[in-house]
Amino acid sequence: QLHNTIQELKGNIRVFCRVRPLADGGLSKHIQLPPADNKSITLAKMEESHTGKTDIQKTCYSFSFDRVFGPQASQQEVFDEISLLVQSALDGYNVCCFAYGQTGSGKTYTMEGEEHGESRGVIPRAVQQVFKTAHKLEAQGWEFTFTASFVEIYNETLRDLLYTEKTSKRPELEIRKTNNEMTVTNLTYKKVTNEDQVLGLISLASHNRSTAQTTQNDRSSRSHSVFQLDIEGVNDGRDVKCKSTLCLVDLAGSERLEKSQSQGERFKEMTAINGSLSNLGRVITALANKESYIPYRTSKLTYLLQGCLGGNSKTLMFVNITPGPDSFGESLNSLRFASKVN
Ligand code: ADP
Ligand code: MG
Repeated sequence: QLHNTIQELKGNIRVFCRVRPLADGGLSKHIQLPPADNKSITLAKMEESHTGKTDIQKTCYSFSFDRVFGPQASQQEVFDEISLLVQSALDGYNVCCFAYGQTGSGKTYTMEGEEHGESRGVIPRAVQQVFKTAHKLEAQGWEFTFTASFVEIYNETLRDLLYTEKTSKRPELEIRKTNNEMTVTNLTYKKVTNEDQVLGLISLASHNRSTAQTTQNDRSSRSHSVFQLDIEGVNDGRDVKCKSTLCLVDLAGSERLEKSQSQGERFKEMTAINGSLSNLGRVITALANKESYIPYRTSKLTYLLQGCLGGNSKTLMFVNITPGPDSFGESLNSLRFASKVN
């Protein structure tokens, strides 16, 4: 509870930056992470300038965030920083956590990671923590109902990642708002009672995502995936109830394509991704500035998440960065995007 009070004072939106390791495990010299400061990051651009004699001109871009994780940070260290946030989902707060960044920057590694062991990411660790805490609370008279869903948004169209019917024609999914709650028609909402059930659903979802990939090359990097765990708790003895949603989102790659590359289907995808990511930025900024109009309905992603963004919700965005010099421009774009919402 103390934690929640502190967070309210500081606002409900935080941004964490995570820099993935280079293939050789190191960090490029374009990125500087000051030692003994885990809140700032500097991108340095080296350019040759020819003013009489050749010298290297260095331009630095510095950013600060609530936390910056370098390439050596483990999945456990990252999760340690968000476990209190996950915990607050059982205190009745809606929690939404996103991973933003160019393709290959480590969004899926951060959110899902590997299925077992130390490289497990935020989603399996969060699920484990929620059930562990719920079991403790059950000993104090609480009863919980958990409902999981997993949906992909591609080209502004929703797809159920927990769909198992063999029929070729899938029912249409539509976002509805009833009593201030967002639901999706025909979406699979699975009642779950333990961690293993949810982990089973997560692997079903990633199987469903990769099956679609074979027909449309690497579609997963161009779609958003949204995992939601609805939590309802009652404590009859104390006559209290709570209801919240934990929402964990692996966003589509934020990279901008060259105009020449973007024709036909790719152009459509690019427009959909740019539109929904920039609208996500607008929604978060509008919430942070306490504006009266929040443009939730402008894109499917923010409309679906309307209940978990704003109000009493807590939002965390990871901005994932690739350290290589080839990624300089995209990294700068991502850091600029993230510092606008911070
Ligand atoms: P994205 O989902 O943003 O496209 P991925 O999560 O698939 O990127 O990461 C690209 C590759 O880099 C994967 O092989 C992944 O395992 C690896 N990777 C990303 N972040 C890390 C990290 N922090 N530590 C080790 N490997 C990482
Ligand atoms: Mg990915």
